[in-house]
Amino acid sequence: MSNIVQIAYLIASVLFVLGIKFLGKTKDARRGNMLSAVGMLIAIVATLTTLEILSFVEMFACMLVGGAIGLYYAKKVEMTQIPEMVALFNGFGGMASLGVALSDHFFKTQIQGVEIDTVNSVSIIASVLIGGVTFTGSVVAWLKLNGKVSGQPITFKGQHLLNLLLLLTFLGVAVMTYLFQIEPIYITILVAIALLVGVLIVIPIGGADMPVVISLLNSYSGMAACATGFILNNNVLIVAGSLVGASGIILTQIMCKAMNRSLMNVLLGGFGQTTSAGAQDGPSIVIKEIGVEESAMLFDSASSVIVVPGYGMAVAQAQHVMRELMEQCEKRNIDFRFAIHPVAGRMPGHMNVLLAEANISYDKLIEMESINDDFTNTDIVLVVGANDVVNPAARTNPQSPIYGMPILNADKARTVIVSKRSMGKGYAGIENELFGYPNCLMLFGDAKQTLTKVVGEMKEMS
Ligand code: NAP
Repeated sequence: MSNIVQIAYLIASVLFVLGIKFLGKTKDARRGNMLSAVGMLIAIVATLTTLEILSFVEMFACMLVGGAIGLYYAKKVEMTQIPEMVALFNGFGGMASLGVALSDHFFKTQIQGVEIDTVNSVSIIASVLIGGVTFTGSVVAWLKLNGKVSGQPITFKGQHLLNLLLLLTFLGVAVMTYLFQIEPIYITILVAIALLVGVLIVIPIGGADMPVVISLLNSYSGMAACATGFILNNNVLIVAGSLVGASGIILTQIMCKAMNRSLMNVLLGGFGQTTSAGAQDGPSIVIKEIGVEESAMLFDSASSVIVVPGYGMAVAQAQHVMRELMEQCEKRNIDFRFAIHPVAGRMPGHMNVLLAEANISYDKLIEMESINDDFTNTDIVLVVGANDVVNPAARTNPQSPIYGMPILNADKARTVIVSKRSMGKGYAGIENELFGYPNCLMLFGDAKQTLTKVVGEMKEMS
């Protein structure tokens, strides 16, 4: 039996690795997700079989209940709420690792009365620290993202010193815990410190940096699972935990680079408090409006169009009308592409997922580095519900909180049409001087409604 379980673990691990590999390309992502899910199913069945605590019928019933809850939430959640859901998932992962560490410690010390060896002690302490920090950190991130707690950074004097002292105390108590063979009182102190540190390290981080934090907490949840794998001597948990830990940290690095922030800068927090200082002090913006008919005429006479989608496209659910606009333009032999900024929207890959949902072919989606030089020779750039990712202040205003963030060079095109509802700000909470540029025209209204009308006009023209 044990050999069969180990082979099942091996198959599950291979499926996890293949799953991550496939997730690297949008067109294979669904397959990657499916492979990983099958790997997880195999791992769960193999583990429960080893434990011999459930019959197959009971196992099936439990998985059915768990699967139904997962399916319900996956169907219910809006695309814009995915980061919140990921934050909760991370929190559950951290809590599970913490729970396993505590129960293993309790079982061995209180019920079996055995001494815990060094590897086990270190694993329990690592699980408690990383699992506890991940749990409360993720809950705070979730509360900030869904608006139950202010997204503004919460800072106070001596915050970083307090965090450092708490971590040093944790290490001191952890050593004593090991020396005294993990007395319950010490483990309780360790849990309390870990939970407190989780809250303290996330509260100073502002809303705009939340995706980076969630990605980092995702990595932590993987590391906690990996430590738990050592406690339970479970190879598949070690492999899965390492994969999540490593991929989470790589994604964190990619996102920091896209926002031109160092990880330390994000973690030290406070970003967003000085928001808008630089941009609002400037001259007030004078804008030019454009209507639906004129927009349709501009598209009709263009030879190249680049669409810059952003968070507003997701809010308006305008991705399907974007495909219709693309079809109308391509009918007229207009070169039509989408420029994808790595942090457009509210989660990594947000725009890719939405556009794929509207059956827009992957080769139409061009990454920022590959398309940024092409804006200069483009007739029309249509900015659909994007704001921060095309804000020239990132290039020109050292006082701006987004200064240094690489942006899409939409302002360099011959004409820029911006589809948004009002002069409302984006995530970073700052004004966008692009809207006042001589080549920029504002097409006000909900993106789906106005662009549907534009497409309607184009259909009538042809
Ligand atoms: P953005 O700067 O947040 O701007 C979105 C714009 O969409 C708003 O100015 C809003 O203006 C407009 N909008 C909202 N609803 C709309 C609708 N129904 N129709 C038309 N327009 C609508 O978006 P972005 O340019 O995509 O930039 C993303 C920002 O989010 C960056 O600051 C990034 O750092 C941050 N962020 C990214 C992630 C990620 O992982 N991708 C996660 C979290 C945060 P109106 O109100 O005037 O319509």
